[in-house]
Order: sequence, then C-alpha cells, then structure tokens
Amino acid sequence: MSQERPFIIPIFLPHAGCPHQCVFCNQAAITGIKQKDQILKDVGKGIREFLSYKTDQKRPVQISFYGGNFLGLEKEKIVVLLKEANSFVMAGEVDNIRFSTRPDTIDTERLDLIKDFPVSTIELGVQSMDDYVLSESRRGHTSTDTEDAVKHLKKRNYEIGVQMMIGLPGDDDNKAIQTAVSLTALCPDFVRIYPTVVLKGSPLSVWYKRGDYSPLPLDDCVSLAKNIHGIFAKKGIPVIRMGLQASEDLDNGASIVAGPYHPAFGHMVLSEIFLDKAVDILKNEKIFSDDITITVNPRSISKMRGLNNRNIQFLKERFSISSINIDGDASLGEEELAIT
Ligand code: SF4
Repeated sequence: MSQERPFIIPIFLPHAGCPHQCVFCNQAAITGIKQKDQILKDVGKGIREFLSYKTDQKRPVQISFYGGNFLGLEKEKIVVLLKEANSFVMAGEVDNIRFSTRPDTIDTERLDLIKDFPVSTIELGVQSMDDYVLSESRRGHTSTDTEDAVKHLKKRNYEIGVQMMIGLPGDDDNKAIQTAVSLTALCPDFVRIYPTVVLKGSPLSVWYKRGDYSPLPLDDCVSLAKNIHGIFAKKGIPVIRMGLQASEDLDNGASIVAGPYHPAFGHMVLSEIFLDKAVDILKNEKIFSDDITITVNPRSISKMRGLNNRNIQFLKERFSISSINIDGDASLGEEELAIT
C-alpha cells in the first residue's frame, strides 16, 4: 500500500450488483443511502463535491465504490462508472480507483473488462473461509471462490483487501480464527474485520426475533477481534478497520436491532491489545511497585488508557497499584510501550 493514506472519495452503491441479500446485510441501513439508481446518475457530481473537501493537496486521491458487488453490475454500468471516475484521473484530480466486490465475481472476463481503467485496489467481501458459515449466511459462494479470486488478482498485480466478519450464523471462535489463518495464507495487502450486527431490514433481524440467531456480546466480540488482529499482525498484514463505520443511524440505534455495535469498536480492540501488553510486562518483568509510569507514543495514549480509563482501572486492581501515570514519547513506535 502507498505509505500515505489516500484521500478517499466514497461512492456508495447500496446492493448494486448483488445477486441476492446476504442474511446479515442491509446496506441502506449502514450507509443511510437508499437511492441506488439516483447515485448511478450522480456519480460525477458526488465526486466533484467530495473533491471540494480536500484540503491537503499532496495526498493521493482515490475514488472508492463501496456498499455493493461492483463486478456483479451489468457490464455497461461497470464501464459507465469507471469511465466517469477515469475522467477525474485523466484530469489529474484523482490518482486511482478502488472498489469492493464478491469473490465469485472475479473472473478473466470481468478483469479484462476493467483492465484499461486505473483501478489499483480491489476489496473482496470474503466474510468467512468456512463453507458451512458461508452457506448459513446465504453468501452464495465458497472459500474456494475466494482462493481463486485472490490468485486472479495477484496475477494482475492488484492491491488486495479482504473483509471478514465475526459472529456470523454458524460461526464460532475457532472458525473465525481459522478464517484469519486461511486469509493470512493468501497474503492480502490489508484486512477489515467487521462484527456481525443485526441490522433492521436484514433477514438476520427476522431470525433474531424468532430466536434463531444470537449475536456475540460486545466484550466477546472485542476479544475475538483482538485475537484475529494478532494473527494478521504476526504476518505483517495491516488491519485497516475494525467495526462498522459510525453513522448517525447506527449511533442512535435507528438501524440496529441488536448486536455488538460500538462507534469506537476498533479503539476498544486496540485498547485491549495495549492492556495485554501492559499485563505481560508487569507479570514477566515482575514489576512490583505502587507507582508506575507507562510510556507510549503520544498517538497511543487513549488506547493505553482504554475507554473511560478502563485499562488503568483494571491494572490498578489486578496488580494493586495506587498510581499509574501515562506519558507520551514520540520516539516509541505506535504499538510499543515501556513501563517504569
Ligand atoms: S453482503 Fe455484499 S453481496 Fe451480500 S447483500 Fe450485502 S452488499 Fe450484496
């Protein structure tokens, strides 16, 4: 991935190109956008509007088609959208294009269709590498489709992102961990981890109301995401998002029936990772003191503290410490910590 994070122009295409509705999905509930056809007509206008928000002129710019199954669209629509996006690339206002799509849409014919457009990154909605979980979630594809898709994309040198979910119907901790292990073997460039939340209007909300599906409790989901994050981190694969993107409808509960949604989900996972590191150091280095200082990179101070100072409280109780100071030191890496 480019070192500098691109300025993303998101174009949401809710359910565009989807062969059916996966059991957990309701893109309109996530994005708050319902008028798919209108969006298809207004893509150029949307891109122009977003470009006006860009303040850092040096940042690379990417147009991103999200929220549907991009390569599942009719070929003419794919070409119309890419041509429109490409006109901004040709004008020097945008660097490249990315989109998300289902693994079973990746084939030679479709990749040939897009080969002359400046698409740099393709994200695959993998969700699970367990075929039982995929079938229970009515995904309509298998883990083999994902393996084949990654092979195709690698041959053509695309940057590859994979999205996985935890807490899907039929899933459990072992299967989720195995999914992460299988995905690391495919060597994607980055990963997103999403908890399964019961969204209004999704088939899963009907199952939930019938008592046929129970979402993961938030704390369990955070711990599982932490373990999965560790699997990718060990292989040096960046996890660029954990948890659904916060939105007004998600935050005020208008779109959610149940499940482990939290606007700071990713922060909670990273905070648990810092807590584990602090516990390990205190245990292994046998630091017995009533007054300690934990030093982290200034960008990691809130993660070290945890939501509402949860980590500090935990450490004080667990190790009988009365005072814990958190210091910032920019010479430390963002994932490092030192205790004195
Ligand atoms: S999960 Fe993806 S493929 Fe399934 S309905 Fe939602 S957008 Fe479409």
